[in-house]
Formats: sequence, structure tokens, C-alpha cells
Amino acid sequence: MRAKIVAGNWKMNKNLADTGVLLSELKEKLNTSTEAQVIVAPTFTNLYYAFEELKGSNIGVAAQNMHQAESGAFTGEISVDMLSSIGVKTVILGHSERRAYFGETDELLAEKVTTALKHGMTIIFCFGEELEERKSDNHFNVVESQLKNALFKLDSEAWKQIVLAYEPVWAIGTGETASPEQAQEMHAFIRKTIAEAYTTEIAEEVSILYGGSVKPNNAKEIFAKPDVDGGLIGGASLDAESFSAIATSF
Ligand code: 13P
Repeated sequence: MRAKIVAGNWKMNKNLADTGVLLSELKEKLNTSTEAQVIVAPTFTNLYYAFEELKGSNIGVAAQNMHQAESGAFTGEISVDMLSSIGVKTVILGHSERRAYFGETDELLAEKVTTALKHGMTIIFCFGEELEERKSDNHFNVVESQLKNALFKLDSEAWKQIVLAYEPVWAIGTGETASPEQAQEMHAFIRKTIAEAYTTEIAEEVSILYGGSVKPNNAKEIFAKPDVDGGLIGGASLDAESFSAIATSF
């Protein structure tokens, strides 16, 4: 049975004080067990604090990014060892904002994936098409090539550490969600593509999250689809009430 996961990507939001408030609210609201693994990804400066605060709770912590090199002269960057050393074992890679605003390519992401795996990290790997690509009916090709370029050189074993997050760019922060049917259609396609490149077993085991304007009022419908194993939540993860409602929408 593949894992159900709901992860909150806080992006560049919440200072230290606000992080403290949100974490206590979440601990309180999510103290009963949910069917899903719940993860939050605060910004780097608050990551260690969040990790310490959430110790002993049923909420995990992820980083939003990391550098591909082990260490060295990369001013302003964060290495995988820095994450591991504070106890963080999960990292989000390939978010569309990293691709669009920081020039991250599939090839660069393949390097980041390799480094993260080498250090035993679990990767929440994001990908998804832009609006024009969907309008021109190219979305399946785009998603297939994003997966192939960044992940398909991995050996079978590595897939145990991969969680996929399909995030159509046109649905991120826009209030426009993919319909549950559109999400299901793409997730089934992703599973088929992995089954062809690897095995049906690997394809069936990998959790595929949907991201893009997931809110308490649409989460249930989206998560009910057979190939949708949870969500990667942006805006709604910044509010404890909304995020808890989403995390329990199974
Ligand atoms: P929104 O939920 O704000 O659309 O963001 C989705 C996202 O980018 C999560 O990584």
C-alpha cells in the first residue's frame, strides 16, 4: 500500500514568531492520527526550530530546496549535509517556482536528486506543465520528458525514496485547480510511464501527490481519485485550520 501524504510548502512565508504560532496550532489540530503522513516545509532559517518543535509529534519536516554540490564556495546555498545534520530527511526538489525564477533545469535537478539520494533523503519531486502547454495539448509530453530527464536514470531501488508531486503551473496560486478528473488522468499517465520505464510494481508503489490550489473544499474530491495519493499544498498550508482540514480529507 503506497503512502498517503499531505505536505505544506510554506514557500517564502512566516518569520520565526509566525512559524512558532502555526506549528503549535498544527500540533493541536493534528494530534489525532490521520490516514496521511503530514509534512511541513518552512523556510531554511526556521527549519531547525521547526524540527525541534515537531519532535515527538506526528508531523514531519521537509526542506524546500538544496544545492547539488556536497559543499564548497556556493555563497547563499544550503547543502544536503546541512539538512541531514539537523535531522531533516525530506527535501522538495523541482518546484515550478525554482524552475521559473531560479533557472533550474531537468539536468540540474537530476544532479540534485543524485546528491539527495546519496545522503538517504526522501525527495518530493515536483513537475507539471504550463498553461500554454496544456492548451496546445502538450501536457503529457512535457510531463513525460520532465520525468525522463530528471529521474529515469535512477536505479529501481532509488524509487523507494521518491515521492512525486504533479503540480500544473496554471493551477499554482491561481485559485484554479485541475479538476479531479484532470488530476486522475495525469496521475494515471505518470504511473503508466513509470511502469513502462521500470516495472508495474514500482509504478504502483510510488506516491503521487497533486498540487495547485488545493483547499478544504476541493481536497476530498481530488484525494478520492485512485491515483492521487495526497497533496502538496501552498497557500492553504499557511493556515492551521485549512491545512488540518485538507490533511484529514481522506
Ligand atoms: P497553491 O496551493 O498556493 O496553489 O500552491 C501549490 C504549490 O505550489 C505547492 O508546492
